[in-house]
Amino acid sequence: MLKFLKNISPDAAVHIFGTGEVRSVVVGTVHRLDGSSNEAVIFIAESPRPASAEFKQRLDSVACICGDQKQKGLPFCGKCFCRLPVELRDLLRAKRGAELEAVYDFALASRRRAARRKTR
Ligand SMILES: [Zn+2]
Repeated sequence: MLKFLKNISPDAAVHIFGTGEVRSVVVGTVHRLDGSSNEAVIFIAESPRPASAEFKQRLDSVACICGDQKQKGLPFCGKCFCRLPVELRDLLRAKRGAELEAVYDFALASRRRAARRKTR
């Protein structure tokens, strides 16, 4: 990063999205689903592999797996997302492409396990 960044606090958080090669660095605001936000230096790493067409379709859809409406581009609706363990939520936020798809599949499986536990 050769550009000198003005107006950014030395305490600003650093976020890395993706695990591939870092292709761009931006200073921006990170908005979370809980409504909080913060200024951060964001490194955007390219995902080495793209997700499957099926998963991309799911992301583009506004229907969550539970039947509720979700935001386009997000894997789950707010309700389903909040029910996931915090580690999984962090991974869902951080991963892209095929890696996000793998985390999504894992989240779905843990969601089903939780549902079974509840009905017993
Ligand atoms: Zn849902």
